[in-house]
Amino acid sequence: MPGFELFGAEERKEVNDVLETGILMRYGFDGPRKGIWKAKELEHAITERFGCKHAHLTSSGTAALTTAMSALGIGMGDEVIMPSFTFVASFEAVLSVGAIPVLVDIDDTLTLDPAAVEAAITPKTKCVMPVHMCGSMADLGALLNICNKHSLILLEDACQSIGGTYEGKHLGTIGHAGTFSFDFVKMITCGEGGVVMTNDIDVHTKCDGYTDHGHDHLGVDRGADLHPFIGYNFRISELHAAVGLAQIRKLDQFLVMQRKNNQLLRSHLEQIPEISFRRVPDPAGDSGSFLSWFLPTEAQTKAVVDAMKAQGVLAGNFYWYDNNWHYIRKWQHLQNATTLQPIGEAQRTALLSLAQQDFSKSDGIMSRCVSTAISLVWTEEQIHAKGEQMKAIIRSVI
Ligand SMILES: *Cc1c(COP(=O)(O)O)cnc(C)c1O
Repeated sequence: MPGFELFGAEERKEVNDVLETGILMRYGFDGPRKGIWKAKELEHAITERFGCKHAHLTSSGTAALTTAMSALGIGMGDEVIMPSFTFVASFEAVLSVGAIPVLVDIDDTLTLDPAAVEAAITPKTKCVMPVHMCGSMADLGALLNICNKHSLILLEDACQSIGGTYEGKHLGTIGHAGTFSFDFVKMITCGEGGVVMTNDIDVHTKCDGYTDHGHDHLGVDRGADLHPFIGYNFRISELHAAVGLAQIRKLDQFLVMQRKNNQLLRSHLEQIPEISFRRVPDPAGDSGSFLSWFLPTEAQTKAVVDAMKAQGVLAGNFYWYDNNWHYIRKWQHLQNATTLQPIGEAQRTALLSLAQQDFSKSDGIMSRCVSTAISLVWTEEQIHAKGEQMKAIIRSVI
């Protein structure tokens, strides 16, 4: 998945353009910046490449989610339905705007189970936030129907699925808003960064102001800008945007390599009849950044993971069920509502109830799932060797 594997002269050239002028900020300094506007240029490239009307860069994917929620009017007491399997950033963003994360089960797509979403809707539900995990997509058709039926906002956390599509449209551009992360281990990177994409000019204008202290960005003199609402500083720097500009030009090449490598590794694992694969609602739209596979039982999966660890080949294979960052089971800080500052009673009560909630359906899936990260720089020989090694280990266990 990570674009950092193919970092090179193109990224250095873009960063150097910025270093030549010394204008590291994305706003203002119109004269000295000599026409260099990397953030603006990257935003334009994002709208072109992913087919959305508007894109606004942020300092991280987490900031992009927070910004999107604020711009969509999600706040104090609103419930946001999100999956039990995601990166911690998803609930961090919900909490940051005062809203309540309502975690529900995933299904064999490794993303929101539409039936669980429907069952969790209350009069306080404002938003459904699918997370397109591990390079592939949620069941967007079903989720869109639910959101339309109940007049809910659909916010896509597409941070891990840059380049993936659903029925020909890019993940992150299908809901009311969507986000990408450009952190260092994502499909394309800025070092740190993120973006909010939307087709709604009003949401976009709010994102634009919110990420820059509420500046309306209407005048030529930054100091004379008005502030129609309260914002924060979630700005990206020109240096980071410059890296992203070089990376987005390589995205098509990355996707071709990634899908090819993914398919080749998959052809090895497909030889084992006991292995099944993640269900992908639109297989043509899988970005291929991970190959996610299941064994029949938790015991077999744990034995395979242990054997891979013992033989030193676990690197790049993720057993999320035991992982501290991606699955509800290890989020004790969330379940105990451990925050540095006091939080609202509704948030606190909701978090404390998570420990009692039944996630057995998610457990039944995650305990049998391994995701293999696909490298861009593997050679065919390396993939064959890896595939043979994985097959041998799996066969020895089952
Ligand atoms: C990486 C990621 C984020 C947050 O991105 P950062 O840029 O690291 O803040 C949010 N959601 C998911 C699913 C992610 O993988």
